Amino acid sequence: MSDAMNSHDMLNDKELLRYSRQILLQQIDIDGQLRLKHSRVLIVGLGGLGSPVALYLAAAGVGELHLADFDTVDITNLQRQIIHDSASIGLSKVDSASARLLALNPQLRLHAHRQALGNDSLAAAVTAVDLVLDCSDNFSTREAVNAACVAAKVPLVSGAAIRLEGQLSVFDPRRDDSPCYHCIYGHGSEAELTCSEAGVVGPLVGLVGSLQALEALKLLAKFGEPMVGRLLLIDALGSRFRELRVKRDPGCSVCGSDAQ
Ligand SMILES: [Zn+2]
Repeated sequence: MSDAMNSHDMLNDKELLRYSRQILLQQIDIDGQLRLKHSRVLIVGLGGLGSPVALYLAAAGVGELHLADFDTVDITNLQRQIIHDSASIGLSKVDSASARLLALNPQLRLHAHRQALGNDSLAAAVTAVDLVLDCSDNFSTREAVNAACVAAKVPLVSGAAIRLEGQLSVFDPRRDDSPCYHCIYGHGSEAELTCSEAGVVGPLVGLVGSLQALEALKLLAKFGEPMVGRLLLIDALGSRFRELRVKRDPGCSVCGSDAQ
C-alpha cells in the first residue's frame, strides 16, 4: 500500500507459514500479503467495534496499527470489548489492547494515541495512515474523523451498533462517486445515543467490527468490492441484513464542491 513496497520486499518463511491460509486465496496471494505488511491503519476507539477490528487486522498481518482511545478499561466494558480482560480494569484501553495485540503478533508495529485527538492532532493522525476505521461510539467523533479523512483523502470504514441494530459503510474520498459520512448522517438522528446509555449486545458489535475488518483487508490488499456507496443495515432481532444505496450529496458541507 505504501511507497516502501518494492521488488526486494519478500515474506520470510515464518510469515509465509503464519499467513498461509489467506495467502492460499488467489485474491490475496503473496502480493496482497505484502500490501498488508506495508499498510498503516488508524483505529479510532478500542471498544466493542475496535476490539475485533484490531485483533483481526493484527492477526492478518497488517504491518502498523495506530490505536486511538483516551479511555480506561471499566468492568462494564468487558461484556463486549473482547480485546480487554478482567486484569486490564483501570488500564488505558490503548495499553491493554497493545499488550494483547503484541502477544498475538509480535511483528506488529504499534503507535499509541492515549489522549483525545483535537482537530490538529486528528488531522496529523489521519495523514500518517493509509486507512481509518471509525470504531467510536459518538456522533461528534464520527463527524470529526470523517472531516479529517475527506481532507486527507484517506478511506474510512465506518461501523456502528446500538441496542440490537448495526450499520456499516465505506467512504472513499479518493473516488468521485463516494459519499462521506456527513452526506448520510449530517442531518442528525439518534446517533447521539451511546451504548452506555442505550445498551447493546456483544455479538452484534463483534459482527459489525468483523465486517469492518473485512472491508479494511479488501481495501488494503486490493481485492473484492468494497461497500462504497452502500449502507448495510443489520437487524439483530430478526436476523436480517438489508442494503441501501447511498449517494454523494453535492451540497454536503464536508465533501461538496462548496465545502471549505
Ligand atoms: Zn459528504
